[in-house]
Amino acid sequence: MSNRYQKSKALLHRAGKVLAGGVSSEFRKYNHPHALFYTGAKGSRITDVDGNEYLDFTLSQGPMILGHSHPGVLEAIHTYSEDGQLYAGQHIREIELAEKLCTWIPSAERIRFCLDGSEAVQTAFRVARARTGKHKFLRFEGHYHGWLDNVAWGISTPTPEALGAQEDPEAFPWSGGMAPGTRAEFLIRPWNNLALIEETVKEHHHEIAAIITEPVMCNNGCIEPAAGFLNGLRELCDAYDIALIFDEVITGFRVGLGGAQTYYDVTPDLSIFAKAMGSGYPISAIVGKYEWMQYIETSRVIHAGTMNSSCPMVAAALATIRILEDEDPYDRMFALGKRLMAGLREAAAAAGQNLVVAGPGPMFAIAFSDAGIALNYRDTLRADKAKLGRFIAAMHDRNIRIIGRGLWYISAVHTEAEIDQAIAVAKEVLNSL
Ligand code: PLP
Repeated sequence: MSNRYQKSKALLHRAGKVLAGGVSSEFRKYNHPHALFYTGAKGSRITDVDGNEYLDFTLSQGPMILGHSHPGVLEAIHTYSEDGQLYAGQHIREIELAEKLCTWIPSAERIRFCLDGSEAVQTAFRVARARTGKHKFLRFEGHYHGWLDNVAWGISTPTPEALGAQEDPEAFPWSGGMAPGTRAEFLIRPWNNLALIEETVKEHHHEIAAIITEPVMCNNGCIEPAAGFLNGLRELCDAYDIALIFDEVITGFRVGLGGAQTYYDVTPDLSIFAKAMGSGYPISAIVGKYEWMQYIETSRVIHAGTMNSSCPMVAAALATIRILEDEDPYDRMFALGKRLMAGLREAAAAAGQNLVVAGPGPMFAIAFSDAGIALNYRDTLRADKAKLGRFIAAMHDRNIRIIGRGLWYISAVHTEAEIDQAIAVAKEVLNSL
């Protein structure tokens, strides 16, 4: 394998002299065996500068739900951008896009478009604070809501024990240089424990403006909500004048056009969509009920951005949603995901490996653990990360690309044959671990 990544290695060396750490996002450092450089991607395949072609289950961390370089998306971007790119003013297609979101997403009565998930999350906090007059948000260990100061806590932990008591956990900062005041902005608790959240809300409701959750804990373990958990959050928020915010950056357009709120039948007050909505173009949306979004409508909450709803990004999102509507790939994506999950479980059982596979199907995660399916972040920390790393590296060396934390994404263009190919390679790797 030593020559396999040679050109990438040389480019990384060159990049390191001009790009900080040789990359443009922290997560890109953690590829195998180091940050890699790519020349192109089409459908379910991506090719690196060394000419290695991978069957891609990272889908660029989620966005490429239609596969790479979908012709319908590219054509829409080309056509719409020829007319103009950005107007410092409105254009008709953003109304069309917002109408689509309002049609499909139960909580969507008003919308604002932004560039990425991180900033849309911050907009939701602002709305929640303005409407409730309260200042803190309640969030969950291991949930990722972007890289900005007030949410980049509680996602990296020195040891599971260091988290302390569930009733009053420690939250560790992910980065140096974060404003110290941001720790005071939130309460943090383990996920999926409704009794604990009830207790917390009863004690702190006078200061909690919002509860924010990934409806599926995709960023650690791809853990689905326990029965009644999301509904329980809904009831608590109603009872105590708290905004329920669903961070659907991953689940949005991935488990269905109506997101996790349709899939689990729980309607939040505000929610965030990004990733799969834009097929790789920078667009996100904060959507919400009028009661909440009217704060933006009436400028009691300010939301702005020079680049918001530029023609190419709106074109990309509109085309993506139209294609998802026309092709309705969701049953197929669920079926393919479940086939792959079952194949991995069987291969692991045959190889005597303690592989745990969890998630709805269009996205799922694997871990090596004797404790079975994780219920929260604390459980995920007990899995064997080193073994997962060896598995992912060995898959990668055999041209199957998976996200380093064990997350797999299925696209509308993966085929049964490709799923079976991935299972066959996994069998070989699991037998060799
Ligand atoms: N929320 C969730 C659930 C995410 O997974 C991410 C990114 O992975 C974000 C928010 C931040 O989105 P972005 O990277 O677009 O800023």
